[in-house]
Amino acid sequence: MRAEVVAVGTELLLGQIADTNGRWLGEHLAAAGVDSYFHQAVGDNRDRIVLALRTALSRSDGVIMCGGLGPTQDDITREAIAEVLHVPLRRDPEVVARIEGFFAARGREMAQINLRQADVPEGASVIEQVRGTAPGLICPVGDQVVYAVPGVPHEMMEMFERGILPDLRRRMAEAGEEAVILSRVLRTWGTSESALAETLQGRIDALDAAAGRDRAVTIAFLASGIEGIKVRLTARAATVAQATDLLDEEDREVRAVLAQRLGDIVFGVDEESMEQAVATILGQRGLTLAVAESLTGGIIASRLVDVPGASRWFRGGIVAYDTSVKNAILGVPRGPVVTEAAAAAMAEGARRVLGSDVAIGITGVAGPEEQEGRPPGTVFVGLALPGHATITRELRLPGDRPRVRQFSAISALDLLRRTLLSVEPARFAIG
Ligand code: ATP
Ligand code: MG
Repeated sequence: MRAEVVAVGTELLLGQIADTNGRWLGEHLAAAGVDSYFHQAVGDNRDRIVLALRTALSRSDGVIMCGGLGPTQDDITREAIAEVLHVPLRRDPEVVARIEGFFAARGREMAQINLRQADVPEGASVIEQVRGTAPGLICPVGDQVVYAVPGVPHEMMEMFERGILPDLRRRMAEAGEEAVILSRVLRTWGTSESALAETLQGRIDALDAAAGRDRAVTIAFLASGIEGIKVRLTARAATVAQATDLLDEEDREVRAVLAQRLGDIVFGVDEESMEQAVATILGQRGLTLAVAESLTGGIIASRLVDVPGASRWFRGGIVAYDTSVKNAILGVPRGPVVTEAAAAAMAEGARRVLGSDVAIGITGVAGPEEQEGRPPGTVFVGLALPGHATITRELRLPGDRPRVRQFSAISALDLLRRTLLSVEPARFAIG
């Protein structure tokens, strides 16, 4: 089943509103296993709506028109549908009664023009209006179908769920096309979208070649700013169990390819955050954590305590912003503080003062001014570990001050995550 959304409204073309209806419909059609190959937006002009609908019917099985069903003279979707289908509009008495009832219930005078909304193309059925005054339409055209729903988002959504989706499902069942679509997001940190795409290109090509009508898996990338890049796996199959198997299989494949070429960049699945990933590993290893933060000013500690149950493994944090605080409380030697040595000393100081097994120290230049002759985005992270030499990393982070601080926080958490995963648990001599 191929569906095409035709969003009607001059305001869409002028950029006065965004076509959020199209976006929502696209997402919900995909979730129902309906293919979308085209999507149109057209102004409130009868000839052009007619052209858009004819075009859609030339290449799609179902067309969803949204907008232009209201009572005013510029709402002409009904007339355009009747023209394309070569049928007259007939005023539906039941719809008239509901529109009159709508106004009566609110004690409002009804302008006659509202009855235009009761005009239904011959042969069409109505999706009863429950929120606004315009009903939706289901207009069969041979094996194809044209649906029309109001442009007001909550009316459109409600009618899609109640009227359109069941009709689409019935048509798909008749055509033996029922499908289940499931997706899973693998969350990555520390690499670019282009590197991910290049690394997975072979896999994407193989999936394209293997895709069939009954089962298919696709891979898509979603950049999500300071939270990294998401790799979304989507599987279509006849049953939930089959779709889940396809996802599990692809999950293993993708992780193996990424691990081999880019290292351990997948930190979580779906909504799992970096701090949750860290929390899970700490919990499994029975390790406690403390932090000493300079440029992040508590962001890392705040993210950690977002995780329910953090008190089991999070000892606490010290915001050591002024150099004298780094020296006095954390024992950082006097001298420059935007250095690897300072980050290491902060981590070791936090571990000692807060009594944790593991500690993060982080120092750097958030900008916009440089500091100690180093440019904004220069960041040093130290990791103090039990029975293991302290690890340090220098990072060069892009962006303005807020981004540098956020990137610093997630990068430090990721360094901890990777380190804990790569060092044999037995190497940590605890206590
Ligand atoms: P009404 O009965 O309210 O006149 P209608 O079917 O005529 O509904 P429109 O007049 O096209 O629909 O749109 C009504 C409102 O719905 C618009 O002002 C706009 O805010 C919103 N809307 C319309 N189309 C879209 C769209 N594609 N995406 C998001 N919002 C939309
Ligand atoms: Mg309108």
